[in-house]
Amino acid sequence: MSACPRPEGRVTLVGAGPGDPDLLTLRAVKAIQSADALLFDALIDPAILDLARPEARRIDVGKRCGRHAMRQSAINTLIARLAQEGAHVVRLKGGDPFVFGRGGEELDSLRAAGVPVTVVPGVTAACAAAASLQVPLTHRDVARSVHFVTGHGADGAVPMHDWLALVRSGGTIAAYMASRTLPKVAAGLIAAGMPGSTPAVAVEHASRPGERRLFGTIAGLPEALAAAGFEGPTLVLIGDVVALSREMAVPLRAAA
Ligand code: SAH
Repeated sequence: MSACPRPEGRVTLVGAGPGDPDLLTLRAVKAIQSADALLFDALIDPAILDLARPEARRIDVGKRCGRHAMRQSAINTLIARLAQEGAHVVRLKGGDPFVFGRGGEELDSLRAAGVPVTVVPGVTAACAAAASLQVPLTHRDVARSVHFVTGHGADGAVPMHDWLALVRSGGTIAAYMASRTLPKVAAGLIAAGMPGSTPAVAVEHASRPGERRLFGTIAGLPEALAAAGFEGPTLVLIGDVVALSREMAVPLRAAA
C-alpha cells in the first residue's frame, strides 16, 4: 500500500487593513476562515483573529518599537516550515502587505523555499486615514501625486529621501513610521522649499475606536505631536489636500 501523499501546504500573505475588521476585503476574510495557522503581528485587532476557525493555530510574531518578538528570519523559516508540513498558513499583515510591511522579504523567502504563495491586498494606513479625515490624497489642481514615504530608516535613522524631488512634485506626502522622526522629516522638506505653512495632520490609530487626529502645519506639527504623546501607530499626511478636511483647525503655528 502506498503512503498517503502529504497535503500541499501554501501561504496567503493577507493585508489585514488598518485595524477595523470592516475594512478587511472579502478575500481576506475567506483566507482567514480557511487558515490552519495564522501568524500575526502586534497591529492586528483580536476581532480579526476571531474570524478564524477555533482549531486554527494562532501565532503572535509581533514586533513593537524595536522589541522584536521574533526575528524576521525566524518568521520566514516558521512560515515556510508550517506550509511544508501541509498547512494553509495565513500571514496577516497590517494595512497592505507590500507597503512597508516587509511582505517582499517574506515573499522572497517563500519563493526560495518553493512554497506556493498568494497575496491579498489590504487597505493601507494612508488610505484609511484619508478616508477617515475626508481628505482626498489626490485632487485635481491641488495634488497630482501621492508619495508613501517611511520616516524610519533601516538603521533607525531618518532615511535619505530626495526632499527636493518630493517638494517639487507638489504631491501629497503620506509618512509612515514618522512620529519620532517628524522634526527631521519636516526640516528636510522645509529646507527643500516646502512652505512652513503647508497643512499637515497626524492620525493615530486610524479606523480604530481610539483614533486621534492632530492638525497643524509642517512647521508646527512636529513639536505639537511630541507634546501630544501619540504612542500608537501614527500616520502623517502632508500637503495642501489636508486643508480640504472639514476639521482643519486654525494652524497650530504661523508659517515659518
Ligand atoms: N503595511 C502597513 C504599514 C506597516 S508600517 C500599511 O500598509 O498600512 C507601520 C506604520 O504604518 C505605523 O508606524 C504607522 O505609520 C502606519 N499605520 C499602520 N496602521 C495604522 C493606523 N491604524 N493608523 C495610523 N497609522 C497606521
